Amino acid sequence: MNSSHSNELHTDPIQFPGVDVYAVVGNPISHSKSPAIHARFAEQSKQQLHYGRLQPALGDFAAVAKSFFATGGKGMNVTVPFKLEAQALADVLTPRAQLAGAVNTLRIEDGKIFGDNTDGAGLVRDLFAQGIQIQGARILLLGAGGASRGVLGPLLEQGPKELVIANRSNAKADELVQLFSGLAHSHHVSLLALTLSDLEDSAKTSLAFDLVINATAAGLSNESPISNAAASNIFAPKSFAYDMVYGNATTFMQQALHRGARVSDGLGMLVEQAADAFLIWRGATLTDVIDSRAVLAELRTS
Ligand code: NDP
Repeated sequence: MNSSHSNELHTDPIQFPGVDVYAVVGNPISHSKSPAIHARFAEQSKQQLHYGRLQPALGDFAAVAKSFFATGGKGMNVTVPFKLEAQALADVLTPRAQLAGAVNTLRIEDGKIFGDNTDGAGLVRDLFAQGIQIQGARILLLGAGGASRGVLGPLLEQGPKELVIANRSNAKADELVQLFSGLAHSHHVSLLALTLSDLEDSAKTSLAFDLVINATAAGLSNESPISNAAASNIFAPKSFAYDMVYGNATTFMQQALHRGARVSDGLGMLVEQAADAFLIWRGATLTDVIDSRAVLAELRTS
């Protein structure tokens, strides 16, 4: 038995007879806060369920997910690096999962696997909860990977004035601009791509941004995706800097704080995307019963 199937990291629905079983799937996964978040939602809404972890070896996602559902598993949250494989596994995709090109929530119904993506809705709700206005705002989105793709649609739907995608390699940012140009046009948003090094050129950024979202994976190694020269161009005291990574004040957040901006990590997004997944699985009638901001406050003090 290898570590990916150790008891701690493998949730087998057969071991929980009579109880609906869910799991978060990723590699690595031992650090995940999702089991604690869903346990609190279950307590708040008086739902009987078990929510565990699964850590397939790289390349084993589909086999592990199929076995989980075949043995009675009801739903999964999917995280790095399996969101694209989850999309490929789903028999049916919601329009937002299709647009995102990635799936973070799976459920099974009548033998069919349904894929959804709640990341973007989770980010938007967390921004609103923190009093951030998106409509009419100038937004800079750093990164062009799965997380950026997942949040672009919900951000554009809120009608910002301008949304700039800046990525290390420009091809991926250009691709996202092409993919989302129709949606941007229909919401009257000016959508454009830059490279991260373009941000050092004040002629290209013109003014500081209202909202800067770090959706790169740089924070995981506690690097910032932007140089200090870029930070001086993009942040002003009116800016809000949001890092999707959570846990500590990242270098990116410190660059923003140093220039007088307000900052947030991505813990609220994690809780809000989980709330949407919980409601997808357990029913929208529980919307008023679960209290995601209380769960977030508990996580912050634990
Ligand atoms: P991907 O691997 O799909 O994309 C990574 C992106 O980060 C790419 O744009 C890549 O650029 C860029 N990048 C990686 N390292 C660096 C670096 N050192 N400097 C600059 N750019 C870099 O990852 P995801 O999009 O899935 O995830 C991104 C982050 O968002 C992760 O940290 C993840 O944990 C977090 N996340 C948080 C969520 C939450 O609920 N809070 C939800 C979803 C994601 P390039 O294209 O040039 O390689």
